[in-house]
Amino acid sequence: MHVCTAADLGPSFVAWAGTVHGTATALISERAQHDDAVALQAIELLQRFGVDCSTCTACPLGLNRRVN
Ligand SMILES: [Zn+2]
Repeated sequence: MHVCTAADLGPSFVAWAGTVHGTATALISERAQHDDAVALQAIELLQRFGVDCSTCTACPLGLNRRVN
């Protein structure tokens, strides 16, 4: 299980994942909520960190709420 949080860390920031206090934590640019290209980049980055946002319940990307 992991926690995703939206964060605005500057114009070049897309996403970051790491372990904070023993919990896998992902930060996702707020732009990903409005920009599909940024969202895709964030998804790819987080997958490399082992974070699967399609199973993420409170994810700012909202992948589990999207209809494919
Ligand atoms: Zn997520």
